[in-house]
Amino acid sequence: MKNYSIWNDYKSKTNCKSLTNNIKTDILIVGGGITGISILQELKAHNLNCLLIERNECGRGVTSKSTAKITYLQEKILMNIRNLINITTCEEYLKSQIFAMNKLIDLITKNNIKCDLSKSSSYLFTINKNNTNKLNKEYEFLKNNNINVTKEYNNLALKVDDTYMFHPLKYLDFWKTKYQDYIYEHTKLESINKNNNIYECYANNHIIEAKYIVIATHYPYFLKHFCLPIKSHIETSYIGALKTNDYKKINAINIDKPTISIRYHNDNNKYLIYLKNSYISSNIKSIKDNFNEFNNYDYIWSNKDIITNDYMPYIGSITKDNTFFIACGYNTWGMTNSVLASSIIKDIILQKDNPYIKLFSPTRNLNISKIINFPINIKNNLKAIIKSNKSNINNINIKYTKINNKNVAIYKDNQNKEHIVLTKCPHLKCGLVFNEIEKTWDCLCHGSRFDIDGKCLEGPSNYDITFKE
Ligand SMILES: Cc1cc2nc3c(=O)[nH]c(=O)nc-3n(C[C@H](O)[C@H](O)[C@H](O)COP(=O)(O)OP(=O)(O)OC[C@H]3O[C@@H](n4cnc5c(N)ncnc54)[C@H](O)[C@@H]3O)c2cc1C
Repeated sequence: MKNYSIWNDYKSKTNCKSLTNNIKTDILIVGGGITGISILQELKAHNLNCLLIERNECGRGVTSKSTAKITYLQEKILMNIRNLINITTCEEYLKSQIFAMNKLIDLITKNNIKCDLSKSSSYLFTINKNNTNKLNKEYEFLKNNNINVTKEYNNLALKVDDTYMFHPLKYLDFWKTKYQDYIYEHTKLESINKNNNIYECYANNHIIEAKYIVIATHYPYFLKHFCLPIKSHIETSYIGALKTNDYKKINAINIDKPTISIRYHNDNNKYLIYLKNSYISSNIKSIKDNFNEFNNYDYIWSNKDIITNDYMPYIGSITKDNTFFIACGYNTWGMTNSVLASSIIKDIILQKDNPYIKLFSPTRNLNISKIINFPINIKNNLKAIIKSNKSNINNINIKYTKINNKNVAIYKDNQNKEHIVLTKCPHLKCGLVFNEIEKTWDCLCHGSRFDIDGKCLEGPSNYDITFKE
C-alpha cells in the first residue's frame, strides 16, 4: 500500500530552474498548482509578460491529491448558494462552472494534451430517502437552466452526461514543459515590498520586480488583513485508490454527510478512487481511524481544501488599483474554478469586461448570512487548537520535550530513527497533529502540513518546523 496520492506516481518530464539572480517581469504568479499554471497559461496566451515561482515542484500541493473530476454537479454547492444567497447568484455560479469546464476541455483537446481525459457521467445521489426532496429541487433548478439532467435509481440520484475526469499532474506537466522558460521551481516567495508602484518580491535571496502579483498558493499565508481564517474553514477528506477489473465512465458524489465520492481511473491499470469521511478539520477524531476502511487499497491519502462562508471562491484583486490578486477558496471544486480564475484575472489586467469579476470578487460585500458563519469559523479554530494540543498524547512513538528551551516533538520511526520537529505551526501558532498514515504533521486549524523532518509541504505556513540546535 502506498501512502500517497495515485497521481503522485507520475514523474514530471521537465525540471525547471530555480531563481539565482534578480529579475523583472510585469506579472508575478506565486504558486504552481492548477491555479498558478492555469493563470500562466492564460496570460501567456494573451502575450502578457509573466513569470511563475513555485516553492517545491509544480503540481505537488493540494492539486496532486484531488479526485480531479471536471464537473458542474458539485455536491451541495448549488443548493448552499441558493439557500444562503439567492437563485440569481446560483445561476451565475452554475454558468461560470460550465464556462470553465468547457474552456478546460477545449484547452485539452485543441492542444492534444495526453492527460487521461475521459467524458463521463456525473451522478449526484443520496442514501437517505428523506433527502429526495432536496434532489428534486436540484433537478428543477438544473432543468430551468437548460441542463440535460435525468432522475435515476428511484429518484435517489440525478445524472448529467456532459462532464469529465482527468489526470491533473499530466495536464499540468504539459503546460509546465511548454512554459518552462517562465517557471522557477524550488523558489519560495518570502516577502513583498511595494516601492513606487513596483512590487519587490523576495525569493531565494533575490528580488523579483513586478507590476502585478497573483497569489496562487492555495491559502494566502501573509494576507492577514484579508482575514481568511474567519472567512473560511478547512475540510479534510480521506481517499483510497483500489485496482479493479472494471472501468466505468462515471463519477458520483452524495449530498449527505459524511461525503462519499467515487470515480474510476484508467492508466496502465484500472482503479476505483473512493473518497469518504469529509470533516471540518477541527471535528476529526482520529486521523488513523479515518483510514480504517482502506486496508486493502493500493493508495491511500488525505486532502484538504478551503470552504468559504458563502460557498463562492475568492478570485480577483484585493487592492483598489487592481494590481494584487488572489485566487482561492474553491470549496473542493478547483479544476473548474482555477480556469475561471485565469480568465477573470487576465480580463482585469487587460481592463476587459468579464461577467464574473463582481461575482467572485474577494472584496464582495458581506450580507447577514455570511456574517453568521464568522463565529462558526472562530469556534472551529478554537476547537482545533484545543484538540491539536491533546491528540498526540497517547501516541507511544512521539515524545514531547524541551531542547534548548524550545518545545519539540520527537517521532521514532520503524528503524528507531528519531525525527525532531518544533511543535507549533509557524502560521498562527496552532498545535500540530501527527498523521501516522502519511507520516506528516498536520495543522487542524488552517491546513498546513509538514513532513516528519519538518519541511513544509503545504501552506498556509510559509516556514518549516525543522529543529536546529
Ligand atoms: C479531497 C479533495 C478532493 C477534491 N477533488 C476535486 C475534484 O474532483 N474536482 C475539482 O474540481 N476539485 C477538487 N478538489 C479541489 C482542488 O483539488 C483544489 O481546489 C485545487 O487543487 C487547488 O489548487 P491550487 O493551485 O489553488 O493549490 P495547490 O495545488 O496547493 O497549489 C499551490 C502551490 O503554491 C505553492 N506555494 C505555496 N506557498 C508558496 C510560496 N511562498 N512561494 C512559492 N510557491 C508557494 C505550493 O507549493 C503549491 O504547489 C478536491 C479537494 C479535496 C480536498
